[in-house]
Amino acid sequence: MRDVIVIGAGPAGLAGAIACAGYGLKVTVVDEFLKPGGRLLGQLHEEPSGKWWNGIKESHRLHREAENLMVEIRCGASVYNLEKNDDMWNVHTSMGTLEAPYVLVATGAAEYPIPIPGWTLPGVMSIGAAQVMTNVHRVQVGKKGIIIGANILAFAILNELQIAGIHVDRVVLPEKNELSQKAGEPEEVMKSLLGAAHLAPSPLLRAGSRLMKNGNLRRIGLNFYPKKGMNVNGTSLQLRKAALEILGNDKVEGVRIADIDSSGNIVPGSDSIYDADFVCIAGGLYPLAELVAVAGCPFEYVPELGGHVPLHSDKMETPLPGLFVAGNITGIESGKIAIAQGTTAGYSIVLQANGRKESPGVNQMLQDAIQNVKTVRNQASIQFNPDIKRGREKMSQLWEEKYPETYRANTQKTTG
Ligand SMILES: Cc1cc2nc3c(=O)[nH]c(=O)nc-3n(C[C@H](O)[C@H](O)[C@H](O)COP(=O)(O)OP(=O)(O)OC[C@H]3O[C@@H](n4cnc5c(N)ncnc54)[C@H](O)[C@@H]3O)c2cc1C
Repeated sequence: MRDVIVIGAGPAGLAGAIACAGYGLKVTVVDEFLKPGGRLLGQLHEEPSGKWWNGIKESHRLHREAENLMVEIRCGASVYNLEKNDDMWNVHTSMGTLEAPYVLVATGAAEYPIPIPGWTLPGVMSIGAAQVMTNVHRVQVGKKGIIIGANILAFAILNELQIAGIHVDRVVLPEKNELSQKAGEPEEVMKSLLGAAHLAPSPLLRAGSRLMKNGNLRRIGLNFYPKKGMNVNGTSLQLRKAALEILGNDKVEGVRIADIDSSGNIVPGSDSIYDADFVCIAGGLYPLAELVAVAGCPFEYVPELGGHVPLHSDKMETPLPGLFVAGNITGIESGKIAIAQGTTAGYSIVLQANGRKESPGVNQMLQDAIQNVKTVRNQASIQFNPDIKRGREKMSQLWEEKYPETYRANTQKTTG
């Protein structure tokens, strides 16, 4: 009989499976993609320490470790429903129904779309699709591109496109409207980018970015922002320009772009057409949590975590017995944090499934894993949301308020 089903073979799901299987639990991992690794497969960047983070290598390492522990991994199977029947969770997949007393949902994140006139033309894609084509399928997305939307994900993937030798001409904002919201407001965009100021390509830019943390200086900086934009390794970052329309007959041929003031309002008559054969829309990320909602788990709105997230404890348990969550489904962060959270969820499951006597030492492992999530977060080179720590604290408080007994029991167990 199977003990645990993990939904999602990304870093969180694989790490959770490894932690469970390491203590003798029988684990099946289900993923709808054709191979395990999740979003790790597209990641490649140099960290401030000079070390390279190669997501493909990391995913191979996790995959091998899981296989050595006899974890069953089923790829190409989509989970579309999750329900509890007596003490068992029924996980309905496109390849049949599986059951187990414990389920870890680690389905990751999805991209916000920003509709722009012309966005259905061939050659327009989400920034995540450009990452997958470049780093997973090794397909060149085009020769000259424009990214619409300036956020941390856009910059991480811009860097990957540049490494692959693909020319991105410029990064501009989407036109400010109800759909683009803060993504169309230069000041908000600048604020959100400051979380990655240390990654700026030159010491001058890094120093300038630090100064911009002051609200008044930021406004002055935006008023004097160069019309031509700022050079980021050969790509012009244009925070005072917005894309109005993507143009082309049968495929992308260009983008109509206008000047904007520091609040994002279009300067009338300032629009020009810029050539491009591909366009990436970068709207940002939100937790992909529908399955947990279908299962009946309560949600909380925590903007610092990326929006609506399932209520969960620091041990990654939800209020529904036997249901655990880890990774981007709990808030948008990097792959290393997803691994640390997956390990935490795995040890929590072991503790509930085997108890302390049958798995000696697991309590200490769980306590260390919870601490490790915080350590990895403090050292993160990429942070999608600068207020992530506040978001995590909010979630802990919400859990404490709503489930005080469980919270106390957890704190005693993990510290006792
Ligand atoms: C487009 C995109 C690009 C990103 N790029 C970066 C980056 O460059 N650097 C960085 O640090 N972080 C990046 N991230 C954040 C990234 O999500 C984390 O780094 C990390 O991969 C999160 O791990 P995870 O295990 O929570 O989710 P993921 O790695 O996303 O894995 C989730 C897995 O669940 C599977 N899944 C989802 N729903 C179902 C279902 N219903 N049935 C079956 N399987 C399902 C998916 O196929 C996927 O394999 C990116 C995220 C996205 C969405």
